[in-house]
Amino acid sequence: MLDFARTGAAVGGTSATLEKTRLLAAYFRSLDDDDLRRAAIFMSGRPFGPSKRRTLGLGWSTLSKAIGSVSRRDDDELQGIFRKHSDLGDWAGEALEGSTGNEDVPLEEVEATLEAIRGARGAAKAAPLEALLRRLHPEAARFVVKIISTEMRIGLSEGLVEAAIAEAFGVPVTQVKRVHLITGDIGETAVRVKRGEIESSAVTLFQPVRFMLASPVETAADAFERMGAEKVWTEEKYDGVRCQLHHAEGRVELFSRDLKETTAAFPELAESAPRIGHDVLFDGEVLAHRDGRVLRFFELQRRLGRKIVTDQMRHEVPVVLVIFDLLYLDGRPLLDEPLEERRRLLEGLGLDHPFLLARLEEATSPDDLDRIFVDTRERGNEGLMVKDPKSPYTPGRRGLAWLKLKRPLATLDVVVTAVEWGHGKRKGVLSDYTFAVKDTASSRLVNVGKAYTGLTDAEIADMTRRFLAITLEDRGWARIVKPEVVLEVAFDSIQHSGRHASGYALRFPRIVRIRDDKPVDEIDTLNRVSELYERYFGKKTETSLSQVAET
Ligand code: AMP
Repeated sequence: MLDFARTGAAVGGTSATLEKTRLLAAYFRSLDDDDLRRAAIFMSGRPFGPSKRRTLGLGWSTLSKAIGSVSRRDDDELQGIFRKHSDLGDWAGEALEGSTGNEDVPLEEVEATLEAIRGARGAAKAAPLEALLRRLHPEAARFVVKIISTEMRIGLSEGLVEAAIAEAFGVPVTQVKRVHLITGDIGETAVRVKRGEIESSAVTLFQPVRFMLASPVETAADAFERMGAEKVWTEEKYDGVRCQLHHAEGRVELFSRDLKETTAAFPELAESAPRIGHDVLFDGEVLAHRDGRVLRFFELQRRLGRKIVTDQMRHEVPVVLVIFDLLYLDGRPLLDEPLEERRRLLEGLGLDHPFLLARLEEATSPDDLDRIFVDTRERGNEGLMVKDPKSPYTPGRRGLAWLKLKRPLATLDVVVTAVEWGHGKRKGVLSDYTFAVKDTASSRLVNVGKAYTGLTDAEIADMTRRFLAITLEDRGWARIVKPEVVLEVAFDSIQHSGRHASGYALRFPRIVRIRDDKPVDEIDTLNRVSELYERYFGKKTETSLSQVAET
């Protein structure tokens, strides 16, 4: 840990990026594979790699108690030192000076301690931390606390860590970035680069691959033109959660869009995977699905928040995986194969419930594509994915090989009823607006959502002055205002919700414009909200899955 800390200090001590890279590269070169993995993760200011679904759960109070107990300093003294630095690591380093064992603890033991802290509950987290701090040289303690607080503050971006890996092992940085895109894990990236495993096709099961993403397009004609292909493939845009499934010889792991392991959330998928009979890596979308019908996202959401999935939950909201890509099959990485080939292999697997295939159609003209898009919308689906059948799978990239065509968004004209003070960059301005539509039956305004994006800083400053002038009630963090500011808001969908008096909530609302031209009388009504809900979001009628072998 001492070498790590000395390198970190030297990196922090220079502002020249080339010098930072050189120092770090020399350090990385001196390490074996396991320490290299740890060091690259720690240097990026993370206690764990991203594929491990782990957070420390260690708060400020536990940390300061541990530092207090090891250093035998009281709160006043500790606070005085903190004020000098305003940085947890630097504070810990100074506070601990003279009261620790000055030992050079190996990175492996630091990692084991972080794991022990994660595993312990509440106040019990202090013990492993204290035991480690007592042994460490204060300079090393300084860096351990930086890692714990996930803030290195030594002017080291992830890009620089990538550059240092490239320099350490004599590989162009573009290749390091490519491996990083695939693995999504800087530690795994460093080790692969060191071992020379830099082929784009290096897929390793149980090491999540970054997901390929789609670029938005407005119209079918636009999609066709941008893809520049003679024929395009379409798939439904399913409204569930993205999921990667890895299976080999009975071992199964699932990963979410942010590459966290989520196997425990979907036990029915994990239990059924061994029946696939092949080693595979699937990319797909988890949907709630019962009696041959897709349930609303809202139903799936009920399951997502739970730590433990009860039998009752499994019964009420069963899930399926709708698969749209195959990235690995029986020892063969498929990233560089065209989508056509990946799909052919996928169809050859003869999958059955709970594994379904995304429904595929082919379009050979913009009109064709438009027709499919209209049909999709009529079935009440969110939108359409348009894919180039000749394209490889490019992890982590939002390119033109996958496009998403969404329903042109409806907007609503609403009135602001309450406002809140913003945070961070928005401190000191009223930037969060709760808004309402009109309930014609009761002639009351009923809230349907809260928006905090879409306005420029200048507009927000202006709004702040307006809202201060029309405040009806000051509740400290929030103000009830006279309902006279009309906004046009866009949104992704509408959900039923107990949070607002309207019974609905707009999902991802954003402000399109301030409608000073529109009187409050003419804002949209609750009826229109329910109409939109019924028409587009309330029903999920046909399943639109090609139910391979399920029929
Ligand atoms: P967006 O979240 O709007 O960027 O849209 C991309 C997301 O759509 C992906 O991350 C997937 O979770 C989801 N999706 C739904 N259906 C498909 C599909 N057939 N192919 C690829 N992605 C899909």
